[in-house]
Amino acid sequence: MSGGLTAPKGTFDTLPPDSARFLAVRDTLTAPLRRAGYGYVETPVFEETAVFSRGVGESTDVVTKEMYSFSDRGGRSLTLRPELTAGLMRAFIEHRMHGGALPVKLWTVGSAFRYERPQAGRYRHFTQVDMEALGVDDPALDAEVVALGVQGFRDLGLTDFELLLTSLGDTTCRPQYRELLVAYLDKLDLDEETRRRAAINPLRVLDDKRPEVQAQLHDAPLMVDHLSDSTRAHYDAVRQHLTDLGVTWTEAPKLVRGLDYYTKTTFEFVHDGLGAQSAIGGGGRYDGLSAALGGPDVSGIGYAVGVDRTLLAVQAEGLDIGAVAGVQAFVVPLGAEAKRLAVRLVGQLRQAGVAADTVYGDRGLKGAMKAADRSGASHVVVVGERDLAEGVGQLKDLRTGDQRAVPVAELFETVRASVEG
Ligand code: AMP
Repeated sequence: MSGGLTAPKGTFDTLPPDSARFLAVRDTLTAPLRRAGYGYVETPVFEETAVFSRGVGESTDVVTKEMYSFSDRGGRSLTLRPELTAGLMRAFIEHRMHGGALPVKLWTVGSAFRYERPQAGRYRHFTQVDMEALGVDDPALDAEVVALGVQGFRDLGLTDFELLLTSLGDTTCRPQYRELLVAYLDKLDLDEETRRRAAINPLRVLDDKRPEVQAQLHDAPLMVDHLSDSTRAHYDAVRQHLTDLGVTWTEAPKLVRGLDYYTKTTFEFVHDGLGAQSAIGGGGRYDGLSAALGGPDVSGIGYAVGVDRTLLAVQAEGLDIGAVAGVQAFVVPLGAEAKRLAVRLVGQLRQAGVAADTVYGDRGLKGAMKAADRSGASHVVVVGERDLAEGVGQLKDLRTGDQRAVPVAELFETVRASVEG
């Protein structure tokens, strides 16, 4: 293989038949959004770098260490999207969608890129489903968003996942809490880089996974104990609606998300079959994001779910999804004249909505029948030279083994009726 080209480090190819499972996960995760009135949006895979540095947050690992940024030939600083929310918000603002009926409910799905240390469940190119409900600050909307995420996992048949939930407060209480936390962190033994991060967003230190940091945080002040009356009431209402919707959760007072702009309701979905990379999705309310991107002061809530990691969760639970459907009919021609008939018949069947296929290249009867078998077809048409001379094709029902000669002129209608019957 020396000199052979391979997929870049941290990336992989998704090939048949596994790709059918990937599609099934992607489509099952997005179906609840389509049913709940969310509209599909497509934005570019790259944006001006500022969309992410301002939209994700300067203190985050994503922005400081993981972005694929480059100058294009016109000297613009562009970045491959490390997540999908910031691009959606940029589009929402640019197209003045806040001027219409609120909330604006949007979803998208596609590639994201992060220069991370690759390991199981953590890649440099991955796929996210992303949804946002923008322009209304209503606890019932928070509950809708969280419940739609849960629904996608349930529809896949997943059971070993958990919803972690907390409230990060807002401007009515976060500044006071922040002071408490800064005073607390000042007394700890933290390295320089952690202190630098703490200076930009002290809450992120709570989320530090290193044991030596966590050990010092056991009696750290928690946002949920310092919520203002209004954010407390908001959080209580969210939980009440979630209970009404039959959603269960675990309180996670130290949960902080990758974005710097989260306020109030904040959540993560974790799966216990995935080892270190247990987060399959997460999100929350962000009241400052639109303004940070130069837009109007509107609130929003949304989540991102990793399709690749959810697929790993599906496999960890041994769920059987995305079976390849195969074709319904398969045509085996023997000889040049039969070939023309086969190509025409397959074309007619496909036009009529019947999944059909034939063999290409000179495969011989044995090879062709093997291909027919592998195709998953319930019906096979074999057209040999002698059949053609008699003006017929042999239609075989592979499920029963029955075979009969059908006049060439009636083949299309007969096959169509047979596969549907
Ligand atoms: P985040 O945007 O970091 O909140 O990530 C949302 C979801 O995207 C995570 O819960 C993962 O499921 C997925 N995800 C994030 N980063 C990666 C990655 N490097 N590789 C695979 N999936 C990822």
